[in-house]
Amino acid sequence: MEEKLLTRHFDLKNLYKIEVYLKEVGYQAVKRALKEMKPEEILEEVKNANLRGRGGAGFPAGVKWGFVPQDVDKPKYLCVNADEGEPGTFKDRYIMSHNPHLMIEGIIITCFCVGIHTAFIYIRGEYEAIALRLEQAISEAYKKGFLGKNILETGFDLDVFVHRGAGAYICGEETGLLESLEGKRGHPRLKPPFPASIGLFQCPTVINNVETISNIPQIILNGAEWFLKKGLPKDGGTRIFGVSGVVKNPGIYELPLGTNLKDIIFKYAGGMKEGKKLKAVFPGGMSAPILKADEINIKMDFDSLVEAESMLGSAAIIVIDEETSMLDVLKVVTRFYSHESCGQCTPCRIGNSWINKIIKRIAAGGGKRGDIDNIIRLASNMMGKTLCPLGDAAAMPILSITKKFRKEIESYTAN
Ligand code: SF4
Repeated sequence: MEEKLLTRHFDLKNLYKIEVYLKEVGYQAVKRALKEMKPEEILEEVKNANLRGRGGAGFPAGVKWGFVPQDVDKPKYLCVNADEGEPGTFKDRYIMSHNPHLMIEGIIITCFCVGIHTAFIYIRGEYEAIALRLEQAISEAYKKGFLGKNILETGFDLDVFVHRGAGAYICGEETGLLESLEGKRGHPRLKPPFPASIGLFQCPTVINNVETISNIPQIILNGAEWFLKKGLPKDGGTRIFGVSGVVKNPGIYELPLGTNLKDIIFKYAGGMKEGKKLKAVFPGGMSAPILKADEINIKMDFDSLVEAESMLGSAAIIVIDEETSMLDVLKVVTRFYSHESCGQCTPCRIGNSWINKIIKRIAAGGGKRGDIDNIIRLASNMMGKTLCPLGDAAAMPILSITKKFRKEIESYTAN
């Protein structure tokens, strides 16, 4: 059954305006957190809620906050990752456009908990209208005393800024995002050190995804135990699944973690479009290893998908039908990654470009014996051998498609 927690008020007219938000939901979580709780209590609650990051990696938010050193004489920062560049992913834009104040509430509580006084929302450049809406919501929050100096007369100060990216996929990678925010080219940094200790402007920094941050208010209002019950013992809460591709009702569906993938496609998204047959599914954005039609009877949570040798990623479900050529899918995947590689690592820079060239040659009728093995060799050489996760993100769909649909790809080659 749909479990609307984050999206429960989305139908309210003008929810993005603070008057409507205050009347219906109201900054209650901020009031409770700042006036009735100590930062340590908030941290404990978020840790106990097992809120795992919704951006892709699934790292527990409370644990991440706990890594931020409290004894350094430097400012600390929060960066909300609103870059949402993973192909097939469109959940964060819904949260920010329908209910920006929910995310702002989450930002205030996070910053109060970690001792942060400056937060940035790094939003992808293409989301111009949403960036304007966020700026409007932030300005309303300042006017009502939820942002700025001495918030709710608690002595806590916080400023929030919206920063527009320029559309590079790599700026969704947390250290690429930091470089970009500092005004430099979005080149990912070597880790460690991790941003929690050395992040923005060399200062301790928390980086959380929009959906992750937007879950904080309900954890504060209802408690960790309640949140855990809405999901799984190791993954608290719901997930906003974005379904696209050849289904009758593409869109977002907020469901408990662990909901069966087959149900999401055939029950909630209405099943395949008239006359179409399911061929394959990307279960967690285009970076996730692909699943064949007979592999979708699976729970949608971090651990179940790892067991199935795929990943939950951004929970963006891309549905592919029988009439779609997997060579075309590979063409799209490899064109994207060869274009988005930042070029710092040779396996990623050269590998993606070569694979894309081979695929294009096969598609043009010039396929040769050994092409598929070469593609596999090049993609395998990217796995775990690059500076940031883009190398793996590019290799995983390529390796899974060439493994599961090898015969079909071979049929396009001459020999
Ligand atoms: Fe850049 Fe690719 Fe290396 Fe990431 S893996 S740093 S995108 S070259």
